[in-house]
Amino acid sequence: MNCDNPNCDDFDRTHLWHPYTSLIDPLPTYKVKSAKGARITLADGTELVEGMSSWWCALHGYRNPVLDAAIKEQVDKMSHVMFGGLTHDPAIELGKLLLRITPPSLTRIFYADSGSVAVEVAMKMAVQFQAARGCPKRTNFVTIRSGYHGDTWNAMSVCDPVTGMHSLFGAFLPVRHFVPAPASRFGGQWDADDITPLRETLERHSDEIAALILEPIVQGAGGMRFYHPQYLRETAELCRQHDVLLIFDEIATGFGRTGKLFAWEHAGVEPDIMCVGKALTGGYMTLSAVLASDKVAMTISAVPPHSFMHGPTFMANPLACAVARASTGLLLSSPWESRVKSIEAQLKRELEPARALPQVADVRVLGAIGVVETKQPVDMTVMQRRLVEEGVWLRPFGRLVYTMPPYIISPEDLTTLTTALVKVVGEMPV
Ligand SMILES: *Cc1c(COP(=O)(O)O)cnc(C)c1O
Repeated sequence: MNCDNPNCDDFDRTHLWHPYTSLIDPLPTYKVKSAKGARITLADGTELVEGMSSWWCALHGYRNPVLDAAIKEQVDKMSHVMFGGLTHDPAIELGKLLLRITPPSLTRIFYADSGSVAVEVAMKMAVQFQAARGCPKRTNFVTIRSGYHGDTWNAMSVCDPVTGMHSLFGAFLPVRHFVPAPASRFGGQWDADDITPLRETLERHSDEIAALILEPIVQGAGGMRFYHPQYLRETAELCRQHDVLLIFDEIATGFGRTGKLFAWEHAGVEPDIMCVGKALTGGYMTLSAVLASDKVAMTISAVPPHSFMHGPTFMANPLACAVARASTGLLLSSPWESRVKSIEAQLKRELEPARALPQVADVRVLGAIGVVETKQPVDMTVMQRRLVEEGVWLRPFGRLVYTMPPYIISPEDLTTLTTALVKVVGEMPV
């Protein structure tokens, strides 16, 4: 085995799948010994500045004492009990907290295991709602291009068919209605033509559509795009006109990342169903939640089988709920808004020089998200090694080199990140 870095592990390289890489000549992996704050320490002692928050999750950084204490305290009571017929304080307290910070019209909470499962749950909820109100033909979905909603079967079906990493399964996936993603950028001019394809699709097909699902304002893994809030306002109006439910996938955008606690606030538009996950537990464990309006929950419950047909084994896992409650509480009591604002200002300032590079197509920043879009796809083997050599942890994909650091990152560490990012992009062949 030719491990090309001192932190590579032979067993790992031979036997363990990692996301989106081959088992024949896989991309290198780096063994992590520990992590604290905004730093990751590799097996050989190398320290990296963490620029990914472990894929949007670790917003307080690693080994936060409040979160550590919450999970340890819960272990001493119980790590898990089934949620069928039983309940517990961590689930109840987390629920109260979530209702305080999510759209007021959402009142009912379904806990699920991961983001993808939350999307499955939301989609099933929409179909069951339509059947319950006497529209059993409304089983399909409409979404916008460049979206990402997870890796399970139905979640995959609403990911962008090209950038969504699932084109291989295309022929076997349920066929959804796709409309172009809005071209009007966040902070730019609103182009009224942006809404036309959705209007036409709903006019033609709404009698078979249960819901529209999208990521509000920020499209994450499907393209790292920031779009105009007016799109959400017009979308919500169209959905109302056509009795199509509106599902917001806030799994990446939630918990302050875009500068608002949740991205719907940029538009003031409330969905019927909303998915949260990722940063929900501060990056400690997997947990997601699907929030629904009274209308959705009551309609489903009013007709046989009178219950929503889903029930994960680890539903509302007490450890996960306890750490999620601690993380969300800590976020709300922290100056998260000013932290995200200063990260945003610093990212804008320090990534701006990348715009002049011949390799770069676009630079964009929103909240604590900074994106450098390149003209050519990055060579991951080269770029990953160079970023680690520069002392940072970033994980580019396709033509996107981007960062969403923990909110507790110091200005100095953030400068290390942006400097490395701009430098390594500048080394790409033109
Ligand atoms: C990551 C993500 C998901 C999937 O979440 P998993 O926990 O990886 O299953 C769904 N939707 C969005 C917007 C995401 O960013």
